[in-house]
Parts: sequence; structure tokens; C-alpha cells
Amino acid sequence: MTPRSRLRVPTGPQTPRPDGGPTPAPAPAGAPRPDLALVRRARRMHRILTERHPDAHCELDHSSPLELLVATILSAQCTDKMVNQVTPALFARYPSAEHYAAAEREELEELIRPTGFFRAKTSSLIALGAALTERHDGQVPRRLAQLVKPPGVGRKTANVVLGNAFGVPGITVDTHFGRLSRRFGWTASEDPVVIEQEVGALFPRRDWTMLSHRVIFHGRRVCHARRPACGACPLRGPGLCPSSGIGESDPVRAQALVKGPSPGGSSPTGSSTTGPAGAAE
Ligand code: SF4
Repeated sequence: MTPRSRLRVPTGPQTPRPDGGPTPAPAPAGAPRPDLALVRRARRMHRILTERHPDAHCELDHSSPLELLVATILSAQCTDKMVNQVTPALFARYPSAEHYAAAEREELEELIRPTGFFRAKTSSLIALGAALTERHDGQVPRRLAQLVKPPGVGRKTANVVLGNAFGVPGITVDTHFGRLSRRFGWTASEDPVVIEQEVGALFPRRDWTMLSHRVIFHGRRVCHARRPACGACPLRGPGLCPSSGIGESDPVRAQALVKGPSPGGSSPTGSSTTGPAGAAE
């Protein structure tokens, strides 16, 4: 089988969309500007994360916007690694929105069963195929407002697709991004839309997509939910992460907690996914 190509987000500045696309979760009019010291600290932390995770990217294998949209729907409550095991056969069997719309329910359920919640996900994929076929000529729309309409597609999924398939900067607030943003002191909110607004205000719009990948990479590999590896984290120390020390501080024991390759490595493990279903949607 010919290996499928993997779309990656460019690391350099992105050109604005020709149609002047959406700015996801814009800050409300009159919202206060973020504190300058916080902006500087956040950007310094991002630079360190950029060095620590030079290979940060979307870990869902795909070769088209539709494939990424489907993979992101399947990633709810499932690891990216498992999704990537299921999708080659799925994408070969259902190459277009029309194919999902016309799918035999039992057959589709069997194909995606390993990803969990397969009945609900099957309903979402069939409805998604129908919606794209009826309203968008079978294509994935490039606008957030249109992308979030099909069932099973919320802001998180839409931002993953916009950022990685269309180059439209977007912040993906999954379970890792929300947790780390609070630990970093970038926000105090638990609300994904508020997190998107508050963190987005700290960074240039062009950085939003790669910032999301780097923070999520860090959450998967170093700053775990239960046992953050503070002693092996480049963000520990004064003036950086205010939560430094909440996890294992001993450098040797902390290093043992780190998942994935060493800094600068290039073969990340798909150790977890874009987060619990609906965590950010
Ligand atoms: S210092 Fe600790 S809490 Fe802060 S980002 Fe690193 S691992 Fe997470």
C-alpha cells in the first residue's frame, strides 16, 4: 500500500486567507488588553516549547481536509495512535462525503469500533457526509461558522481542521491545552471558549496553530495531568511556569516520567489524544 502523505502545518508565518477568514473566538469588544508582563512571559515560554518540541505537529494521519475532519471526530475518547490504525481502511472504503452519507451503518460501525463510542461516531459520520453533500457540494467548508454546523463537529474539531488543513490560525483547546494554560497562569478559566480568547490575546494570530501543537505535545510528554515531570521540564524555574514544583522535582525521577523521544527527537508516541469527547466542544 502506498503510504499516505501527512499534511503538516508550516512553521513560518502564515499568509492571511484570501477570503479574510474567521478569527476563532474573538475577544469581546472592549475586553481588557492582557498584562504586558504576562504577554512577555507567555511568549518566552512559547519560545522554550518551540525548542523543546521542534517536531510538534498534528498527530492524526490524513491527506485531505475530509480525512482530518473524520479522524478528529474519531479521536474523541481515543488515542491518536488507535485512530491512525483504523483510518487507512476507513479512508480507502469511504473516500468522499457522499460515501459516508450512503454508508451501511453496521459496516461503518465495525470499521471504527476500536475507537470507542462507535455507534455515536457512526451517526456523526453519516450525518456529516449528508450535511457536506447537501450543503457544500461534498467539500469541507473553510469557515468556522459553517464547519461547526454538522453533528459531531464543535469548535475544537473545527479549529483542528482550519489550522492543519487550510492554514487558518486557530487555537485547539483540548484537555491538555486547557490544563497547561491554567498551570502556566495564562488563564484561570475552565471554559474552552474563554481559554481560546484569553490565550489567543497573548500571541500573534499566526502562531496560534503551532502554539496549540507545542502545548499539547508538552502536555502529552512532560506536564501530565497526574504526575507532571517538573524536574525535567524546561519551563521550571523563576519567571516561567508558576506551577513549577507541583509534580516530581527530582531530575532523575522526573526524567523517568517523560514520555516520547528525547528533546529534538523525531518519533513521537501517540500517547494520548485530543482529549475527552466534547472536552472543548
Ligand atoms: S514546571 Fe511542572 S507544572 Fe510547569 S509546565 Fe513544567 S511540568 Fe508542568
